[in-house]
Amino acid sequence: MPRKEDARQNHHSVLESLEKIAGKNFVTDRREERYYYSSDPSVGEAHTPEFVVLPGSVEEIQELMRLANREGIPVTPRVGGMTLSGLAIPYGGGIILDLKRMDKIVEMNKDSMYVVVECGVTIGRLKTYLEENYPNLWFSMPHAPPSVGVVSNALIQGAGQVSLGYGVNSDMINGLEVVLPTGQILRTGTCALGKSWLSKYCLPDFTGLFLGWFGSTGIITKASIQLWPKPGFRDVLFYKIYKIDSTVEVFLKLTKSEACEDICMFSWTGTSGKERFHLTEKPEEVPEITMDVLLNGKSREEIEYKKRVVRRIAEDLVREGVQIEEYARSPQIKKGVLMVPRIFPFMDLLQGGGAEYLGCYIPPEMTGTAYKKGVEIAKKHGFQYLHFLRPLRTGHAVCILHIFPFNKGDPNQVKGLISLLEEISEECVTMGGVLWKPSPTLQKIVLKHADSEYLNLMKKIKKLLDPNGIMAPRQWMPYKVNNSHRT
Ligand SMILES: Cc1cc2nc3c(=O)[nH]c(=O)nc-3n(C[C@H](O)[C@H](O)[C@H](O)COP(=O)(O)OP(=O)(O)OC[C@H]3O[C@@H](n4cnc5c(N)ncnc54)[C@H](O)[C@@H]3O)c2cc1C
Repeated sequence: MPRKEDARQNHHSVLESLEKIAGKNFVTDRREERYYYSSDPSVGEAHTPEFVVLPGSVEEIQELMRLANREGIPVTPRVGGMTLSGLAIPYGGGIILDLKRMDKIVEMNKDSMYVVVECGVTIGRLKTYLEENYPNLWFSMPHAPPSVGVVSNALIQGAGQVSLGYGVNSDMINGLEVVLPTGQILRTGTCALGKSWLSKYCLPDFTGLFLGWFGSTGIITKASIQLWPKPGFRDVLFYKIYKIDSTVEVFLKLTKSEACEDICMFSWTGTSGKERFHLTEKPEEVPEITMDVLLNGKSREEIEYKKRVVRRIAEDLVREGVQIEEYARSPQIKKGVLMVPRIFPFMDLLQGGGAEYLGCYIPPEMTGTAYKKGVEIAKKHGFQYLHFLRPLRTGHAVCILHIFPFNKGDPNQVKGLISLLEEISEECVTMGGVLWKPSPTLQKIVLKHADSEYLNLMKKIKKLLDPNGIMAPRQWMPYKVNNSHRT
């Protein structure tokens, strides 16, 4: 155990070194500033970093990593800190690397349709840049606040408005530039050849060494993100579906028609005002699900044709006994639904804050089962359920999001919600699914079910890339807190 005096001296010498690297204005160890980075709205427990650093260049990040690696200081990267599953909480203390200053749009290629961005570019910034300069192109944008990062969203395998057509956002990365925990730079994709950022193929692909790892294998400093032609015309049809079991058929038919831009289904609690905060029963006449079917095309005629395709599918479903009916919504609501990112009426919070948002990628045929299990488990633990369903990549998988507003100040609610999330996670994996952006607590459930050779390889990769285990403590790997720098 280091003596307190040694720890204090060590703290000051690290602070000086950090200031030398990033500049005094971009380093802090002040309590009130560190506090801001200690938690997020999820049930993840707060941990205060010892230093906050905002680097301004790749070279600074290299130097910071060399210092942290030499001194054995944990490093947790962060942009928006808005995953709602505690992924950017600095569980090991140490340094929070706030990457927001790394906000350059490095290269734009409108013909090959990609943009190279630094790791701090937010979705708000990229959206504005494209709208102002390349209005015929768009990228796959999460329906999240504008302050979340484009790169951080892609590395957590997020999804956007084109994910039904083209896959999740990690599929849309052409290549990465990464500062390894030891300070070296690695480039993946065609960028490794130094000529362009065109494609992830045809080299052996190392991009995956940094996706889904939640910052625990290195700091991604740049990424080439695929862009897509922006449709000139968009519209939406609204449906009510009375029984959850019918949604499997609805999903299978609609996704395979390839007529839809996006399909979003909500449990009744997502559209019924404050019902989502309280454990109330659904009134008989209220449909279990409402569904928005978004359509796009190059002309009004194309949209009208796609509407006919969707309506014919709905008619066929009614003939098969499915209780589904189209309904109208106000022009104002329609406008909000067609915005990218779109407005979700249920993303406000209870008094006391707190929102946890667990995603599960499940086989489409398990949609009804997953939904009902989610309802059963939520009720058992005394929480109202709020489910959001969305098919991905032409329906190869369905994402079910379990969203729980809760009072963070109530320890019983926090404890109950953790047990609830663990139970849903077990069910998800058991039914052949996998968790999306799980918190460190839920990552353990995934790992418990994982093949032993898969686990061995993960450990070897982690050791190879991060030999001193300083990166993003607790993400996928156990971590013992080292207090040697604490004052
Ligand atoms: C209201 C709301 C709605 C949302 N809707 C959607 C949605 O529709 N689709 C969707 O996909 N998501 C959605 N999200 C989640 C949101 O998009 C994520 O928070 C976001 O994608 C992650 O970005 P961030 O900047 O918040 O990441 P952070 O929380 O800052 O980071 C995420 C993870 O990546 C690591 N990391 C960050 N940057 C780097 C880097 N450069 N190198 C290595 N590791 C790094 C962090 O340590 C952390 O583990 C929603 C969130 C909210 C609050």
